[in-house]
Amino acid sequence: MILNYRVGDIVTLKKGHPCGENKWKILRTGVDIKLECLGCSRVVWLTRIEFEKRVRKIEVDGKFISIIHNVEVEK
Ligand SMILES: [Zn+2]
Repeated sequence: MILNYRVGDIVTLKKGHPCGENKWKILRTGVDIKLECLGCSRVVWLTRIEFEKRVRKIEVDGKFISIIHNVEVEK
């Protein structure tokens, strides 16, 4: 599955933020991805390669779907 990440998408990463949250909003896409932690509003930059290594799920219609398998749905 080829995913095009868009600004405003909510994703989870392999490892959550130290603040305890693991939901991130994409603020910018491109060679580098800018993410905002939804727990504490900290902003981080990841290279696209790093982002694709770490990203696990993406929110689609209110559900988090595994990007790797695209079948797991939780909550
Ligand atoms: Zn945080």
